[in-house]
Amino acid sequence: MAVTDNRPYFFDQTPDTLAALLADWGMPRFRAAQVMDWVYQKGVANPQAMVNLSKQDRVMLVERMVFLRGAVLQHQLATDGTQKLLVDWSLTEDDLHADDKPRGGEASGTSLNVLQDTTLGSSKTQTECVMIPATSSDSGKLRKTACVSSQIGCAVGCKFCASGMGGLDGNLSPGQIVQQVWQLAQLPKVGRISNVVFMGMGEPLTNFRAVTHAAKAMTADWGLGISVRKVTISTVGVPNMMKRLAEQDLGVTLAISLHAPNDAVRKQIIPWAEFVTIDQLIEAGRYYFEKTGREVTLEYILLSGVNDQPEHARELAEVSRKLRSNINLIRYNEVDGLPFGRPLNEAVYVFQQILRDAGRVVHLRASRGRDIAAACGQLRHEQAQA
Ligand code: SF4
Repeated sequence: MAVTDNRPYFFDQTPDTLAALLADWGMPRFRAAQVMDWVYQKGVANPQAMVNLSKQDRVMLVERMVFLRGAVLQHQLATDGTQKLLVDWSLTEDDLHADDKPRGGEASGTSLNVLQDTTLGSSKTQTECVMIPATSSDSGKLRKTACVSSQIGCAVGCKFCASGMGGLDGNLSPGQIVQQVWQLAQLPKVGRISNVVFMGMGEPLTNFRAVTHAAKAMTADWGLGISVRKVTISTVGVPNMMKRLAEQDLGVTLAISLHAPNDAVRKQIIPWAEFVTIDQLIEAGRYYFEKTGREVTLEYILLSGVNDQPEHARELAEVSRKLRSNINLIRYNEVDGLPFGRPLNEAVYVFQQILRDAGRVVHLRASRGRDIAAACGQLRHEQAQA
């Protein structure tokens, strides 16, 4: 089982730490660059297939290093091309195939490798990641966005979110975050990932070191080579950590999950709003802009009858004026067992128009992957109920 495997993990390494490890094992220093190239550029994470390494070094890598952690329990493919993975970090692929029974298959043409045996794994050790294809309205180019988790579960407990339902079960390491992007890139018809959003399970700024290390590996030339401007770290709002992120000046976009135009509504849906006011978030967001020159994105999930009324839009316009920001509206995807509804198209249109008329830059994010429960934490939640 991976949880008891203390060998160094490839995706946690930088070129320097990998070179030091390989040197300790008697390999030449240039091996590190070769291994990095195999994994990140060629998409090969099996040392046996790294044919420009000596046989002896390949065997040593197999024995001494873990290249992929966890096991993919489910791979779902939505009709719009969105793909989603449910990964259990306490298992290995060998655990899945231990009894040699074929698992899953081509269920309904939209779901691949569906694990039929729900006795394997536990929601306490699982995370989700999603690849969302979309054509950019500005450039017309196809974007492939990886939405990654930074923690197992989440301590924030937003009332509308499946991820927060069971609390926090643990932090992911930098490598476990990077591996999600790498694995999504290996799926059929994906290839190079262009954008990354830290909007899966977890509050990224409470796993700060792992998240910032992962962002560096995603954007480094030796790593995934994703443009730093295409990486977005999204927070429900931890002002001191937002400032710390500003000081690191990674060049990433900061998104604040505002989801309400005033503290009273925010407290109804986000428990941490009891401790942090919108004014404090605005102040930290302004600091981020001053330090980095990067405009902040305000995320706003529209919940029918809760925060989607015209007066909420007018209030949001005023709040967003207080810092250099743009607004992302997201239509809620319903979660079984939660008392929130998806707003009607008409309400969304009116909401967006009020913001536009107020001169705000606002985007309505298209809902993707609705047929595969692509909302944050939904797949893990469903697995736990099975
Ligand atoms: Fe946590 Fe984000 Fe879900 Fe809130 S919406 S509970 S911050 S994962």
